[in-house]
Amino acid sequence: MNAADSESLARRLLAAGYQEESLERADVAILNTCVVRQASEDRVYSKLHELKAWKTPERTIALTGCIVAQEGDDLRRRFPQLDAVVPIGEYEGFLAGLAARYDYSEGEALPSAGRTGVSHYVRVIQGCDHNCTFCIVPRVRGRERHVPIAEVLEECRGAVEAGAREVVLLGQNVDDYHDPGGRGGLAALVREVEAIPGLRRLRFMTSHPQDLEPELLETMAASNVVCRELQLPVQSGDDGILKRMARGYQTRHYRAIVEHARALMPDIGLATDVIVGFPGESEAAFLNTRRLLEEIEFDVVHLAMYSPRPGTFAATRMADDVPDVEKLRRLNDLLALVREIATRKTARWVGRDVEVLIEGSDELGRPYGRIRQGKRAVVLRGAGIAPGDVINLRVLKATAGQLMGLPAA
Ligand code: SF4
Repeated sequence: MNAADSESLARRLLAAGYQEESLERADVAILNTCVVRQASEDRVYSKLHELKAWKTPERTIALTGCIVAQEGDDLRRRFPQLDAVVPIGEYEGFLAGLAARYDYSEGEALPSAGRTGVSHYVRVIQGCDHNCTFCIVPRVRGRERHVPIAEVLEECRGAVEAGAREVVLLGQNVDDYHDPGGRGGLAALVREVEAIPGLRRLRFMTSHPQDLEPELLETMAASNVVCRELQLPVQSGDDGILKRMARGYQTRHYRAIVEHARALMPDIGLATDVIVGFPGESEAAFLNTRRLLEEIEFDVVHLAMYSPRPGTFAATRMADDVPDVEKLRRLNDLLALVREIATRKTARWVGRDVEVLIEGSDELGRPYGRIRQGKRAVVLRGAGIAPGDVINLRVLKATAGQLMGLPAA
């Protein structure tokens, strides 16, 4: 979401004649911030301290993103070197202020299409109407606002015309999407976007087990464009903890979704998020999570240790009662488990031909991209293969994180 917000602001600046520069040569530095975890928030403060030495009266430092809603005016007091604090999406006044300060009228406006890469990220929902007790997002991004289907389509068409081969629809809870004009929900949006001529792939994230509808899975299964990949955070495999998290589903609901998805798409790539050490997580509750991971065998698991975010229900009303050393033990235990599962699961691709959308080259100059199920794939000898190409790859090797192979004949 933050990358998409940065991109949207960058496009507007480029269209107005600004250019991307190294920090040493730049007049304006804009920090887009994330506060979902304490570590990301701390990085913002350390970057602001770093920028003190860079700041001169002629230079502008601006801050946007989630930290603005959380810390507000306090930031200006703590960091007097800050020139602008810009709420997410409210860029007009900031851009007008910049235009008054710097004259870039001689600059050559770059069409926004000049930025379009292989994948284009489109925000379809801003904010979230859930209230998971550990999460700061509803507070910093507000309640849901849905972008009309017509606007999403216009942006996607423009991106494809400018060279994008893949579109990624984004929302904190993308399954809750509905067109404000009544044209339908996420499945309807997906069907309209996938019909855009020239579009090779469509992805969406992040899903929510309470809101994901069977119609969406059926739309995915029937499509040659929509990726066979689901980002479906479970957070815990214990019903008591899920209740304390206010997630709105139980593990049996989650299992039923996975079962349905795999019945329709046996090879679907499944990714999830898990928090260990949530308040009240007993050893038995933790073992329930462990069992769920063993049973479902996700392709990717993003693991996090619980850390209270000030302002959330869990931080104010629940005791952070799992000791750090125990959280770390649980985290390491699950890390080893998911690595072992991912290695075993990825091995199923060896010897098979997979479709890869090439996104770029790695540090060894080898083209890489992703298969439709979301796994990263590297072409070991890929002369003449360029970003945006869609190739068939014969998989020769697999690690937990990626596939490697040669173009299939
Ligand atoms: Fe946060 Fe996601 Fe829950 Fe919304 S659904 S409150 S974004 S964790």
